[in-house]
Amino acid sequence: MQIQTNVSLKDYSSFHSGGAAQKLVVCKNTEELLAVLTEADENITTLGFGTNVLISDEGLPGLTIVCRGGKIELEEDMIIADAGAWWDDLVILALQNNLWGIELMSGIPSSVGGAVMGNIAAYGQQVRDTLEWIELYDHTTQSTKRVTADTYKYSYRYNSLQDGPDVVITRAAFSLSARATQKLEYGSALRIAQELSLNTDLLSDRRQIIIRAREQAGSLYDPESRDNSYTAGSFFKNPVVPLETAKKVIAFDETGKSEQQLLKQNQIHGGSNHRVSAAHVLLAAGFERGQTWGGVRLHPEHILKIENTGDASSQEIYDVAQTLIKAAEEKLGITLEPEVKFLGSFKQS
Ligand SMILES: Cc1cc2nc3c(=O)[nH]c(=O)nc-3n(C[C@H](O)[C@H](O)[C@H](O)COP(=O)(O)OP(=O)(O)OC[C@H]3O[C@@H](n4cnc5c(N)ncnc54)[C@H](O)[C@@H]3O)c2cc1C
Repeated sequence: MQIQTNVSLKDYSSFHSGGAAQKLVVCKNTEELLAVLTEADENITTLGFGTNVLISDEGLPGLTIVCRGGKIELEEDMIIADAGAWWDDLVILALQNNLWGIELMSGIPSSVGGAVMGNIAAYGQQVRDTLEWIELYDHTTQSTKRVTADTYKYSYRYNSLQDGPDVVITRAAFSLSARATQKLEYGSALRIAQELSLNTDLLSDRRQIIIRAREQAGSLYDPESRDNSYTAGSFFKNPVVPLETAKKVIAFDETGKSEQQLLKQNQIHGGSNHRVSAAHVLLAAGFERGQTWGGVRLHPEHILKIENTGDASSQEIYDVAQTLIKAAEEKLGITLEPEVKFLGSFKQS
């Protein structure tokens, strides 16, 4: 473990853009992370696998700590993991031990720290459902403290830890169940189950269904591979809108489902039938799949994924995001909120 200076952060972000870290250290487990934290006296930015961040082209001041790797342990029905552990390794361990509660979040590209901070979710499950406790590093006492999950508030892609003060998550525990905790009700997943003759009530089948669904949605990411599309997944959160606006937006669905089916799907996915797909909002605002601005494009199949096609700067990606936000506001009165975290400074156009 070595602190390096002036290191490009491109390889630490799935957008493959951004400037340099003034100082950078990569921690392979929580012991290494704690050793760095107790010595650090500068500004700290913590990263996991960089799959949900847009890093400024001016880079990041102070020390950037990248947490990648760590221990995952099973204690009866609880999984305890280091912040840098790869989320999907927890899912696999749960499956191997016939434990339910996180299987629908198979294949989300995340560290455990990023998963807790962002309350990740997919196909009707969210991290909050099983999160038991979080261990945090406290700069004032230079020690870790363990807090129960209910110390914080959670909602769609939100954990009140995001509101600061800045903390570093060092470990977390998830309480799983010997029985199914959720029904799989998500339309695209049910269709795949039927096509592949898989049983949605079997744990291992559920994983196969979800991985296939994620593959079709372009939502798989391998941090070891050079073949990923440079995106951060869905760029915007699905917004909650008045019912009349929801109906206007879901008219842009192309799956042939009825309005009632779509409202129900929104309910399952976002906790409210007024929460519409941000992808439909972009279509309703007049944008098209594959639309391009220099090196930035809306993914040719999955419009909600803003993509760096090679050499785009973070500022260029940021500017496209602002164009989309402005159009949704002006044409539909809908405020799109980025799911992606902007790190460092960006110019307002
Ligand atoms: C192809 C693709 C598909 C995706 N699909 C989904 C999906 O289905 N559901 C979903 O919810 N998300 C999805 N995402 C978004 C992403 O996977 C999640 O947001 C993930 O939790 C980010 O984890 P990370 O380790 O990469 O965090 P990073 O991107 O490195 O960081 C994200 C934020 O968390 C903070 N952070 C990270 N680690 C720590 C820590 N230890 N302590 C304190 N703060 C920390 C960072 O400072 C930053 O603000 C997808 C992304 C991609 C690229």
